[in-house]
This record gives sequence, structure tokens and C-alpha cells, in this order.
Amino acid sequence: MVTGGSGLVGRAIKDLVSGDINTDHFIFLSSKDANLCNYEETKHLFDTLKPSIVIHLAACVGGLFKNMNNNVLMYESNEDINRNVLRCCVEYNVKKCVSVLSTCIFPDKTTYPINEMMLHNGPPHSSNLGYATAKRNLEILSRLYRQESKCTFVTVIPTNIFGPYDNYNLENAHVIPALIHKCHLAKQKNANFVVAGSGAPLRQFIFNRDLAKLIMWVTKQYTDHEPLILSVDDKHEVSIHNVATKIADHFGYAHRLVMDTSKADGQFKKTADNTKMKSLYKKSMGKSFEFTLFDEALAESITWFVENFEIARK
Ligand code: NAP
Ligand code: GDP
Repeated sequence: MVTGGSGLVGRAIKDLVSGDINTDHFIFLSSKDANLCNYEETKHLFDTLKPSIVIHLAACVGGLFKNMNNNVLMYESNEDINRNVLRCCVEYNVKKCVSVLSTCIFPDKTTYPINEMMLHNGPPHSSNLGYATAKRNLEILSRLYRQESKCTFVTVIPTNIFGPYDNYNLENAHVIPALIHKCHLAKQKNANFVVAGSGAPLRQFIFNRDLAKLIMWVTKQYTDHEPLILSVDDKHEVSIHNVATKIADHFGYAHRLVMDTSKADGQFKKTADNTKMKSLYKKSMGKSFEFTLFDEALAESITWFVENFEIARK
């Protein structure tokens, strides 16, 4: 059972397993199936579906500006969703539950690269205190339930995700989908392509199709109680300005790119250490994980948005 099955990551997992002979055994859920903030609705879902394995993706998600403007919502909704889903996993004898955290929840003041053992070492960046606290609590609750139940709760920590099926909302989305939408509109209106902040912050980005493969591998193979960072190498960290330029280049619109330095930058960087993931993956699969090249993944995400403009979430 995949909660959040209609989102950026859920749709990528659905595409990945759709050729699989066991596809019938997957159930992809959206908020239309149940509001997971509500315990009775969550319980009814588990009672009806009786899942053996849960991939828990559902969350109230957004970029820097959604987080800054809605810290209470990000805290409360994610706390409620996570508490209900994990409690029902125990009550309905789920064998394994894979939950998704984020590098957004790492400490702000720290040393780099950040590894799995450093998650709780100091407060997160103030811009997303609500989301980060709820996600940190998801890690703690997974750990505690592991000790007191038979369900194998594991957690993973992806970096900033992008790809087809993303939320391309101008105000609330993450940086890549927001900038793709902004550049598309700017070109149509012959206006400046305005990018928020200084452009200096650094991010590691992961393509949703790559993350889907890694989450399926984790679901089958990973059982540690420590979270697992799912990230590209730190040498692939890029600046926001660099990403904005690549997007503008794709639209042939780089000459109209301007930075709005009155807008927030958020956390400067959250460089994640993927050593553990790379070593475990190689050990279990006999080869290294191959990430899609960033430029190829970005081009595909832009093309998907333009071709699916009418139906894209925005
Ligand atoms: P997304 O595209 O925004 O999708 C969110 C999913 O959660 C949708 O299926 C949505 O259903 C569902 N959902 C939201 N509120 C719900 C509720 N109250 N009850 C039931 N379902 C609800 O999110 P995503 O980007 O795929 O994120 C997947 C996971 O990765 C999340 O746990 C997120 O925190 C984590 N993550 C995301 C990023 C990123 O850059 N996007 C980075 C790191 C970690 P509807 O479609 O019906 O609304
Ligand atoms: P984060 O990686 O969790 O911090 O979240 P985002 O994906 O929202 O990326 C935030 C970074 O991108 C900040 O440095 C912002 O200043 C910058 N940025 C530039 N333009 C935009 C935009 O239109 N939307 C968002 N969300 N961020 C932007």
C-alpha cells in the first residue's frame, strides 16, 4: 500500500512497477481515498485493505515559501498523518513500513557532508521548523514503534526531488518545478524570468524515477533502524543560479533571467553524505546505482510540464 500514491514520488513508483507481474498487489492511494489526518478514516483504510507492506509517502509538502508561510499547517498536518499511519501499521500487523523524511530536516548549523547520525544534532533552519519537526518526529516514532511491535519501520532521507507529475505551483512548489512554470509563463508574456533569492544556495537534486527505484530497493532490502540517505554524490551539488540558468537555457530565455534578492534564500546548503546507500546498494545488487544525468532529467521534467500543461498540478 503506497500512501501519497498520486504525488511526485508515488506516480514514479507506479510507473516503475506497472510492467511488473505483481502490479496487482500494489495499491496507490491519494487523499480522495482517505484523509490520513483523520484517525477513523485511516483505520477504515487499513481495515479494508489489510496491507502487508506500507510505503508511506503521503505528506503536506512544499518549497521554501510554502514552509515559511505555513509552519503550523506543515507541523500539524504531517504530525497527524504520520501518527495515524504508523499507529495503524502496528494495529493491523503490517510487516514493514518505509517512511520518507527529507534533507530539509537536517540541522542548519553543522559540518558537511551530513550523514544519517547527525539528523538530530541541532535545530533545523527556522524557515521550515514545522515540517522539519514533524519529519524528525516521524523518524523517532518509527524507531520507538520498532522496539515495541513486530513491524520493521525504516526511514529514508531523500534530497530535493523533481520530475514528471511534480507540483508546479508558482508560490508553493519546490524550486525546480516553480522555476519551470515561471520561465514558461515569462516567455509567453515576454516578461523577465524572476528567480527568488541570491541564487547562491546549493542543493542536491534527485530525479523522481531514480528515487522510485531506490525506494523499491529499500522496501525489499533495507532493514536497519537508522535512516538511509538517498542522494546523488555531493560533487553534483548545484547552485540555485546554475539551475535557473539551465532552465532558462532550455527555454532559450537566459537573457531575461533576473534575481529578486529581496526574497529569502532559506538554508544555504544541506550537503548529504550518500556513502552508506552506495555501499549497501553495491553489496546487495552487485553493481553501483546509476543516477540519471541531471541535465537529462531536467530536460524531461520541462518537456513533461510543457506537454502536460493542462493537467499538471499547478
Ligand atoms: P506530493 O507530490 O506533494 O504528493 C503528496 C501526496 O500525499 C499526494 O498523493 C497527496 O494526495 C497525499 N496527501 C497529502 N495530504 C494527505 C492527506 N491528508 N491524506 C491523504 N493523503 C494526503 O509529494 P511528494 O513530493 O511526492 O513527496 C513524497 C514524500 O517525499 C513526502 O513524504 C515528502 O515529505 C518527501 N519529500 C519530498 C521532497 C520533494 O522535493 N518533493 C523532498 C524530500 C522529501 P492528493 O494527490 O490527493 O493531494
Ligand atoms: P529547499 O530545497 O527545501 O530549501 O526548498 P526549495 O526547493 O523551495 O528551494 C529553495 C531555494 O530555491 C531557495 O534558495 C530559494 O530562494 C530558491 N528559489 C528561487 N526561486 C524560487 C521559487 O520560485 N520557488 C522556490 N520554492 N524557491 C526558489
